[in-house]
Amino acid sequence: MEYDNIIDEIFNRVVTSKPLIKDRDVLRSDYVPDRLLYRDDEIRAVAESLSPLLKGSRASNLLLYGKPGTGKTAVARYVLKHLQERARRYNLNVALAYSNVKNAKREYTVLVQLGEAIGLRFPFTGLASSEIFTRIVNHIDEHGIDTVFVLDEIDFLVKKHGDEILYQMTRANERLHKGSLGLVGISNDLNFKDLLDPRVLSSLSEEEVLFSPYTVEELRNILMDRAKLGFNEGCISDAAINLCAAIAGAEHGDARRALDLLRVAGEVAEREGADMVEERHVRIAEKRIEQDKVSETLRKLPLHEKLVIVSVMLSNKGSTGDVYDTYISLAKRLGVQPVTQRRVGMIVSELDMQGLLYAPVVNQGRYGRTKRISLAIQDSLVREVLAEDPMLAVLL
Ligand code: ADP
Ligand code: MG
Repeated sequence: MEYDNIIDEIFNRVVTSKPLIKDRDVLRSDYVPDRLLYRDDEIRAVAESLSPLLKGSRASNLLLYGKPGTGKTAVARYVLKHLQERARRYNLNVALAYSNVKNAKREYTVLVQLGEAIGLRFPFTGLASSEIFTRIVNHIDEHGIDTVFVLDEIDFLVKKHGDEILYQMTRANERLHKGSLGLVGISNDLNFKDLLDPRVLSSLSEEEVLFSPYTVEELRNILMDRAKLGFNEGCISDAAINLCAAIAGAEHGDARRALDLLRVAGEVAEREGADMVEERHVRIAEKRIEQDKVSETLRKLPLHEKLVIVSVMLSNKGSTGDVYDTYISLAKRLGVQPVTQRRVGMIVSELDMQGLLYAPVVNQGRYGRTKRISLAIQDSLVREVLAEDPMLAVLL
């Protein structure tokens, strides 16, 4: 009888509660809205760099950079979309290829993606990157295509693979008789320019645009716009929107962060069967996002880092020596080759910097100084995430 009541209550809530979210996709961070606020100058600069394409000339190379969530991707995609429409309308021989290169394991993947975007097909295997690039250049030349490659999150590509591929791209025009290749590089890392060979930098940054962080007020209006599209009328309070903007603004003016808060707060409120999204849902969303981030970091740690975390958890505010002893015994149980104590000390410092451990140095009077190492995150979270690893599950 009691259970019947509980179940009735849950079902009633689902049936009677109105959905708060109207369009979930609009609230995602890869959605490009029809209207971008506060980015007129940036849109103009990008449009001007690319506009030579409309007259059959080469687009200027362009570097967009700024902190995450400052609208770089949105502005680039927005201008590309409009340019593509024009090109189609005027029947121009223009090809615009966008690629987010962050997760590319090899340069090969990037080149294949860009090549395919301009109409090439490649066999499944067996081509070297240099061969793919040659085919791309030949294709552009043969068909006289004015091409733009947009390389988003280009800093990751360069950090992983160096800037040789960019060098080749910036030199491609010298090999072309017809058609052209313009580059748009987008970087979240403000120091990205230091990674580039001066020759590559000077060609890539023929033009450059720096995106500055949004103020709280700007974030608020960006969210208001988005909330109108994403939520049903009257389903989100101004106070909730203000709080999302305030939290994201206090960090570094990151619109993606603000939107994530808004979306997750909406999901929290909906699941709760609330009539509208309120400030407290944003607070819960903030915690949930933070936890997800920590879980993700934990999950990605290499084995010995994970073992050190477990050792810290088991040795309860132990010294470096205690943690090492526990670590050795865990390694033995798993039958893995342990690393040195020095290395464990370094891992502890790294995990401390990542905010996973807390390792202050304490004075022990005449016994000298030592570290007292503890978890900076919840035990339960560590257990939950690390137990997903079948090898570690036996320890937990
Ligand atoms: P970046 O590429 O600089 O990291 P994005 O362009 O991906 O940032 O922007 C993050 C999110 O914020 C996206 O969902 C985007 O639509 C939104 N956004 C960013 N700037 C604006 C803006 N000026 N107006 C409206 N939405 C914006
Ligand atoms: Mg981006």
